[in-house]
Amino acid sequence: MSTEPKGEGSREPTLTRAGIIAVGSELLTPFRTDTNSLFITGKLNDLGIEVTLKAIVGDDLQAIVSTFEHVRAHADLMVLTGGLGPTADDLTREAVALALGLSLDEDTEVVERIRRRFARRGLEMPEVNRRQALVPRGAIALENANGTAPGLWIEPAGGPVLLLPGPPREMQPMLDRVVETHLARYAGPSRLYRRVMRIAGRTESHVEEAVQPVYSRWAAASPPIATTILASPGQIELHLTVHAAAREEAESLLDRATSEIATVLGPDLFSADERLLEEVVGGLLRQRRFRIALAESCTGGLVASRLTDVPGSSDYVDASLVTYSNAAKTRFLGVPESLIRANGAVSAPVALGMATGVRERTGADVGVGITGIAGPGGGTPEKPVGLVVIAVAGPGDAISVRTFTFPGERRLVKFQASQAALDAVRRVLLDSAEPVLR
Ligand code: ATP
Repeated sequence: MSTEPKGEGSREPTLTRAGIIAVGSELLTPFRTDTNSLFITGKLNDLGIEVTLKAIVGDDLQAIVSTFEHVRAHADLMVLTGGLGPTADDLTREAVALALGLSLDEDTEVVERIRRRFARRGLEMPEVNRRQALVPRGAIALENANGTAPGLWIEPAGGPVLLLPGPPREMQPMLDRVVETHLARYAGPSRLYRRVMRIAGRTESHVEEAVQPVYSRWAAASPPIATTILASPGQIELHLTVHAAAREEAESLLDRATSEIATVLGPDLFSADERLLEEVVGGLLRQRRFRIALAESCTGGLVASRLTDVPGSSDYVDASLVTYSNAAKTRFLGVPESLIRANGAVSAPVALGMATGVRERTGADVGVGITGIAGPGGGTPEKPVGLVVIAVAGPGDAISVRTFTFPGERRLVKFQASQAALDAVRRVLLDSAEPVLR
């Protein structure tokens, strides 16, 4: 714990380093992912508390105790999630009490709370639920609005310990509340502020190469801005973070760094305000009052699905046809059979025929054609799996046709194709009028 003095009226030392332990044997199988620790990390980061260590441990008393002791050596705040249920394999309470040398006593108020919860559903409280009312000496039981397991807040020497239930719908609102009621007191004056920049059309190393001179300058500034590059299929993210005492100071620093990076990346940067590509494309279509129609083959409707994930998309999505077979491309889009025979279904002329066909038949301003080989079968040396051709026709006379070869398995190829199609539309729209302010 840092000994940094805090503001007037506050006695607690500032917490800077947290450790998280997710408890549950199911989290050690391939069937359940520990997502709670990500949510907890986000909330702690917002308070300026960094997570220095996290662990996942099964439902084993000794393992939880020794993991607790190990993580505690690296952290001044401990957060545990899971294992607060009523059954014999829910051991987090016992383990923490054991590790801290605290006795466990039944809290009659908690028993009553659980009893009332059952009574509201016309049920009697099973005796096993009494386990959930065991509270380490000196701990505060935290009410659970969505379940029976109360959380626990303990303040032993060495820094606070927070126990949260496992189910995310119980854990999340409880943590939100505990931040207000208990944790905020321990947070220092500085908070962590983040800016997410999203980029399409460049590889991770190309992004790194372009922005490195900018971010190394900001990394040396005071306060420093830290930059992380995260690559995912079809998209690179740059996360800029800065610790600052005041929001205005942080936002103004992040604004300046973002605008320098935006200059370097040009139109490859598509979002600096958390918006996803489908939202950005939707925004451009709405702003320019264009309607879009899609002819999708290998993406199976994914582009339309993503566009219509955005509320209000009926303002600009006109139609989407999944024309998977060659016959459907001819029947619904008017792509000549001879064109398909001469070039193959995955080819620039067919993609363009799909885009112009769907545009003409719907009267939309922008038509998109997507054709490709998602795999795993169907590839040839000339046309390998992952080959995708994307055409955009309109607005006006604009025509864009691009061929890609995407790596990865079927779903990944489909996703990357949808990303490239949305990005192709975005670029055509950016060229179609004055670029909008990001
Ligand atoms: P209860 O037994 O009252 O439901 P609990 O605190 O004992 O609460 P667990 O039994 O450990 O919680 O977990 C219940 C369910 O919550 C798990 O099956 C899992 O679906 C989910 N869960 C538990 N821990 C996590 C985690 N770290 N991340 C995401 N989900 C989790």
